[in-house]
Amino acid sequence: MSGIVFESLLSDFTIKNPYKDFSEELHRVEIRKDPLLGDTSIYNPFLKDKARFFFGDNDPELIRKLVEDSAGTCIFCGEKVEKNTPYYPADLLPEGRIRVGEALLFPNLFSVGKYHPVVSLSKAHFLKLSEFSPELIGNGLAAASQFLNRVYSVDFSVPYSVINANYLFPAGASLVHPHLQILVTPVAYSYHGRLIDACNTYYQKFGSCYHTDLIDEEKRTGLRYITQQGKWHWMTAFSPMGSNEVIAVHEGEGDFALLSDEDLKSLSDGISKVLSFYEDLGHLSFNYSIFSLRKSHPTEGFRCLLKIINRQNLYQNYRNDDYFLQKMLQSELIINLPEELAEKLRAFFKKE
Ligand SMILES: [Zn+2]
Ligand SMILES: [Zn+2]
Repeated sequence: MSGIVFESLLSDFTIKNPYKDFSEELHRVEIRKDPLLGDTSIYNPFLKDKARFFFGDNDPELIRKLVEDSAGTCIFCGEKVEKNTPYYPADLLPEGRIRVGEALLFPNLFSVGKYHPVVSLSKAHFLKLSEFSPELIGNGLAAASQFLNRVYSVDFSVPYSVINANYLFPAGASLVHPHLQILVTPVAYSYHGRLIDACNTYYQKFGSCYHTDLIDEEKRTGLRYITQQGKWHWMTAFSPMGSNEVIAVHEGEGDFALLSDEDLKSLSDGISKVLSFYEDLGHLSFNYSIFSLRKSHPTEGFRCLLKIINRQNLYQNYRNDDYFLQKMLQSELIINLPEELAEKLRAFFKKE
């Protein structure tokens, strides 16, 4: 028996609209709750027409200047990435760094976790979203996998790992150059911890994995299910935590270090497709995170989970897309309905 309920609540109210001679106008807000964590998101159909107020157009001239200005001093560019980046001591990584194709993994000088390597993904200083090829992403994930396996072999105190991407300033990236950041820690950071706890509680209660139940449920209704690629199932989030959120769930594995080459390949392929889709929607900045839990961890029911969102576009005086609603209330505003987003993505994933 599945314990998944897609809960939403409608609030109706009236406003006297100055643009309609102060006539009474009926408004409706839909509040959605994430079936696992209860996190809320809000949909107001009237805001759809105001999407451009929330996300203005990217300014190509501003982006050109940003790329140009940052390229000269970029330590991930050219030979500097080998010369000016730190490396790990030999007891952790005999070679100091990990190289897979264009991807190069090395320690972060300003770590926010016990293990916090950075992976420079490409030779190119800047990539359009459609230029994040499955190969570039896949090499980065392969480097992350090698690193995680290496850490596991020397350190049993760090079961929590997340592979993260920030792209461009609106996403919080301090460098333009495409890169990943991996965190491997002895404590699960807030959201990761809530996820692990909730998956375990769900497992104890229903005897099944929340995320495999979610796959079944989303497949059954067909509303938000996009496609299966290898062992990954792609869906939009019923109650998203960011703009145009897409998620991918691995049907059998919760530990990123144990994913096969094939798993990493199909995941990279999907990420690449979603990024191209974001470009189609007119976006450029994004975040994603891949959550992982070491297999030996005593909790049950966890599956590798990717969450990917786009962020604000780059233009003069752009407004941050996280305001009190997101940052303080940890709720999200839905501009594109997840069900409509999934429909567009299904067509997009079919394109080769
Ligand atoms: Zn660079
Ligand atoms: Zn960064």
